[in-house]
Amino acid sequence: MSSSPLMKTFAATDIVDTLIIGSGAGGAPLAAELARHGKSVVVLEAGPAFPATGHTPDEVAARELYWLHERLSAGTNPQAFGGNNSGTGLGGAMLHYGAFMPRMDARDFHLHTETGKGVDWPFGLDELLPYIERVESFIGVSGPAYYPWDPERRYAYAPPPANSAALKMREGCDALGLRHADGPAALITRDIEQPHFGTRHACANCGACHQGCRNGAKSGTDNTWLPMAVAYGAELRPGCFAHTIERDSSGRVTGVVYRQNGVEHRQKCATLVLAAGAVETPRLLLTNGLANSSGQVGQNYMTHVSTQVWGEFDEDIRPNRGYPSLTITEDMMRPKDANFVGGYLVQSLGMMPATWGQNLARSTTTRGPAFARALAGYNRSAGMGINGECLPRPENRVTLSDEKDAFGIPKPLIEHSYGPNEWAMHHHAARLLTQIWEAVGAKDIRVIDRAAHMIGTCRMGTDADSNVVNPVGRSFDIDNLWISDHSIFPSAAAANPALAIMALSLRTAEAMLKV
Ligand SMILES: Cc1cc2nc3c(=O)[nH]c(=O)nc-3n(C[C@H](O)[C@H](O)[C@H](O)COP(=O)(O)OP(=O)(O)OC[C@H]3O[C@@H](n4cnc5c(N)ncnc54)[C@H](O)[C@@H]3O)c2cc1C
Ligand code: SF4
Repeated sequence: MSSSPLMKTFAATDIVDTLIIGSGAGGAPLAAELARHGKSVVVLEAGPAFPATGHTPDEVAARELYWLHERLSAGTNPQAFGGNNSGTGLGGAMLHYGAFMPRMDARDFHLHTETGKGVDWPFGLDELLPYIERVESFIGVSGPAYYPWDPERRYAYAPPPANSAALKMREGCDALGLRHADGPAALITRDIEQPHFGTRHACANCGACHQGCRNGAKSGTDNTWLPMAVAYGAELRPGCFAHTIERDSSGRVTGVVYRQNGVEHRQKCATLVLAAGAVETPRLLLTNGLANSSGQVGQNYMTHVSTQVWGEFDEDIRPNRGYPSLTITEDMMRPKDANFVGGYLVQSLGMMPATWGQNLARSTTTRGPAFARALAGYNRSAGMGINGECLPRPENRVTLSDEKDAFGIPKPLIEHSYGPNEWAMHHHAARLLTQIWEAVGAKDIRVIDRAAHMIGTCRMGTDADSNVVNPVGRSFDIDNLWISDHSIFPSAAAANPALAIMALSLRTAEAMLKV
C-alpha cells in the first residue's frame, strides 16, 4: 500500500499509546485492532510503501520486496536468506508470500504431551480458533466446499482454477490412495469492496504471487489490516529502521530511536510492540540488552522442513501459470509408518523460471551442457513441496555476530542444523513424493532438501524461567513491552504460518486492551 495523504500523524513529542516495529502478519492486525479501539498507534516499518500497481512479475525487479540486509548463516543446514525467508515494506513478508493458508492441526499444539518431544503451546486450537475464523473472514480466504480433514470448515470464496502441477498431484494422490483437496488460499475469487481499502479484483490466476499481487486479489496486510489501521487513526511510517529502545530508571520502555533517510528520530510511547520477525525481533532485544532474564532470546530458532520434489513430464506443464500451490494433502500429518514425531503437509508447486533455475542449481552438482539440458526442461516440470514440523534444538539460534552492518549494529548470525527428526521427515517425504510423481509418469525426478520460514527465538509460555513472553505475548521482564510475530511460536507446527501469526496478533491486541 502507499501512505495516504489523509493519514493522521503524530509528533515525536507525543507519547503514543502504542508504537509497533514491523507491519507484517504480526504487527498489522494488532495496529488495526488497537486503533479501532481508540488507541493512538504509530507503526515503524524499515521497508518502503509499495503501491500494488507497481508490483511486477519480473523476478529480478521483485527483489525489492526482500529483506536484503546481510544475515550470516551457519550450521549443517545453513539457510539462504533474502527472498526465501523474509520480506520488507508496508505489509512485510506477506507482500510476496505464497498465500497458502491452512489451519494449524489441533495435535500440533500438544506435541510434547503426544510424543515426549518438542514443546507444547500454552493453549490449544480451541483458544485460537475464534481469532483464526475472524482473520479468514476479514482478509478473504478461498477453499473447497468440503475439506476432508475438517468437514465442518467453510470458506467464503471458491478456489481458483487448478494449474497443471495441481492436476498432476491430484492424479498421483489418487494412484496412491491419498486424499487430496484444493488447499485454503488467502486470495479472493470474486471482486469485492474491502472495507477502508477499496476494490479488490478477483484472482486472475497469473501465477505471480511471489512477486506481489497487482490486482489486490491476494490477501496481505497491505490491502486489509493496514488500511483499516489508518482509517481508525494509526500512522504508518515506512522507511524507518528502528535500532535503539529507550527506557526510564525503572526499566520501562519510553521510546524508540530510528533512522529515516539517514537522519535519527525518536518516537515516545507508553507501550512498545516488537513485530519485526523472528530474526530482527531477537536482534533488537540482544543489541539493546533487554527482556532476556530467561536467557531464551534468540534461542529455539526453528524452520519448516520444506523438501521439494520436482518431476519432468512428456507434455507441457508451464509451471509459471496459475495460482502456484493449489492441491493439498493433510494425510501425512501423522503417517502410520513415521519414524519421526509430528507431521507434514504436502502442496503442489508451480514456480517462476529464475527461482526454479536457482533451486535446480542448489539441488545438483551437475553443471555445463547437462545442467543446460535440465534447465531446458522447465516448461515440462511440476513440483510438490512439504511443510513439516521442526523441533527446537539448543544449537539452533540467533545471536549477534562480530560483523557490523552499515548502521554499526552487529549483523545477526543464524545457526541452523537439522536433527534426526527433521532428517527422518525429509527422507520420508522424499520417498513419498517421488512415488507420487512416478505413479503419473514423471521422469528426471529431483529431490531438493530445503528449509523455509523463520520461527521461534522469543517463545511464549507460562514460565518466566524458560520463556521470553507470557501466553499473550507480554514480556516477563518489562511490562510495557510486547512481542507479536513469528518469534513467539513455542513449536514450529506444520501449517504455513501467516494465519496463526495474524490470529495471535488479534489475541495479543485484545490482551493489551484489558491492561
Ligand atoms: C517467499 C515466501 C513465501 C511464503 N509463503 C507463505 C505461505 O504461502 N503461507 C504462509 O502462511 N506463510 C508464508 N510465508 C511465511 C510468512 O509470510 C511469514 O511467516 C510471515 O509473514 C511473518 O510475519 P512476521 O510479522 O513475523 O514478520 P514479517 O512479515 O517479516 O514482518 C516484519 C516486518 O518488520 C520490518 N522490520 C524488521 N526489522 C525492523 C526494524 N529494525 N525497524 C523497522 N522495521 C523492521 C520488516 O521490514 C518487515 O516488514 C512465506 C514467506 C516467504 C518469504
Ligand atoms: S495468482 Fe491471483 S493472487 Fe496470485 S498474484 Fe496472480 S492474481 Fe494475485
